[in-house]
Amino acid sequence: MDTQVLIIGAGPTGLTLALDLSRRGVPFRIVDAAPAPFAGSRGKGLQPRSMEVFHDLGVIEPVLASGRFDITMRAYQGREVLREWDVHEGRHPTAERPYARTMLIPQFRVEQVLRDALPQPVEYGMPLTSFTQDDSGVTAVIGSETVRAKYLVGCDGGKSFVRKELGLSFVGETHEDLRMLIGDVRISGLDREHWHSWGSRADQWLALCPLPGTDLFQFQATGDSEPSLALYQQIVRERTGLDDVILHDATWMSLYRTNIRMVDRFRVGRVFLAGDAAHVHSPAGAQGMNTGIQDAYNLGWKLAMETLLDTYEAERKPVAEWLLGMTTAIMMSGNPFERRGDETLQLSLSYRTEDGPGLLAGDRMPDGITDQGRVFDLLAGPDFVTLDFPDGPVLVRPDGYVAAIGRSAIDAYFSANPVTQLHHRRVAARTAA
Ligand SMILES: Cc1cc2nc3c(=O)[nH]c(=O)nc-3n(C[C@H](O)[C@H](O)[C@H](O)COP(=O)(O)OP(=O)(O)OC[C@H]3O[C@@H](n4cnc5c(N)ncnc54)[C@H](O)[C@@H]3O)c2cc1C
Repeated sequence: MDTQVLIIGAGPTGLTLALDLSRRGVPFRIVDAAPAPFAGSRGKGLQPRSMEVFHDLGVIEPVLASGRFDITMRAYQGREVLREWDVHEGRHPTAERPYARTMLIPQFRVEQVLRDALPQPVEYGMPLTSFTQDDSGVTAVIGSETVRAKYLVGCDGGKSFVRKELGLSFVGETHEDLRMLIGDVRISGLDREHWHSWGSRADQWLALCPLPGTDLFQFQATGDSEPSLALYQQIVRERTGLDDVILHDATWMSLYRTNIRMVDRFRVGRVFLAGDAAHVHSPAGAQGMNTGIQDAYNLGWKLAMETLLDTYEAERKPVAEWLLGMTTAIMMSGNPFERRGDETLQLSLSYRTEDGPGLLAGDRMPDGITDQGRVFDLLAGPDFVTLDFPDGPVLVRPDGYVAAIGRSAIDAYFSANPVTQLHHRRVAARTAA
């Protein structure tokens, strides 16, 4: 075997998986067809649950240093401010939820932080062009090399080669009518404290959002023509009526078409799909990058321990189904920038199999203060952790979800999945009053 896990694609999904595997000491390779990292921003909303993942992966500090929580929305008619509002008004960090609001940060910066934390480089200019699998592994051609790996994970985006080679259908719809011009542009004549928007009618919509940590704005506008700086400037002039908002240059421009699709299988033998390769949807609600990060975080420990691998699809497919419906509803609501519901923060997602009151197996383990320190700090690292509270133990999975509550349920979990006990530690803690 040349490597344990071959990761195809170095977007946020593949990079999160690579970082998780690296801290577990699992041999992996991460390859990307592109010659260099993608330069465009694309996603710019990082959800609190992703920040919790980054806390565990040890990369939260550079992420926090690059992003902003305090940019408010502004709707204009020309120069007149019609309304100013905070999409996350009233959400403040608590002991249980240390990250309470969506952070604005360009996706390329998130990817850079993840790449910088990897112990080995991403192999660019290495497209996957074919693969076959048998009982013991996968044989893949990447660039001019043939590689043998125990597992292959397709994190290769919406046009996924892996998905197509597996012959999986990508069921859903393409909204030809919902097209958006996007890009990263340098602009003078606008402040960087607000996400500026114009246009009461959908076909007149224009949004210009400062990208924290850069001197760029993300340009978004309804439209279906060939992108160019001249066109973007014309749209700004026509939709704002202002001639002192000047676009100087663009580092990325694209015409975006909304696809709402997902696979019905996330695993075929030794090959897995994660991120956009498995599900695509409207960018409204800022979920795609975040969901890919969560897919990777769910899969990483299972690949490392080679256990519970079937639960990856069982747990992540319902999330993808819910996600497609939720983001479509936000898109169709007519105002994707209204105050957001709790569900977009991805904190209330659960892998529960039974319903009931209070904390149950499958729920996200909340943060909290104990006499031993913060719960998230006690959980940080690649292991299962039993938190031995005075009123009973809670077994938490490496991805921060509750595996079992109470001694007998924990014993039953370990005897059903013995390998998990090999990656387990206990912490006696008392919750601070
Ligand atoms: C305008 C816009 C706004 C968005 N806003 C948000 C937001 O605010 N929040 C959010 O969470 N998401 C947002 N998204 C979605 C987000 O950008 C995607 O969901 C995210 O990029 C998916 O990550 P990924 O790693 O799964 O795939 P990708 O980022 O697409 O990465 C796939 C990688 O695979 C590589 N690849 C492809 N084929 C091969 C091959 N054969 N061999 C090797 N490598 C290959 C590609 O080069 C690429 O680098 C937005 C998207 C758009 C377009």
